[in-house]
Amino acid sequence: MDQDTEHRWCKYCMAKTKQILVFLPEMATYKRRRQYQCTICGKKSWLQGRRPSAESVY
Ligand SMILES: [Zn+2]
Repeated sequence: MDQDTEHRWCKYCMAKTKQILVFLPEMATYKRRRQYQCTICGKKSWLQGRRPSAESVY
């Protein structure tokens, strides 16, 4: 199986943890929200995906 994991800040663990991407919307809308589940504490949290364009100087 191939689960998508990302290192994200977990507010419950108060640390960066490995989190499984449990829900990924198929529609690429402006503000996508993804649901991650922490592999350490098992809590699920909604986080916004990073926008493809980096915060850049114009
Ligand atoms: Zn956690």
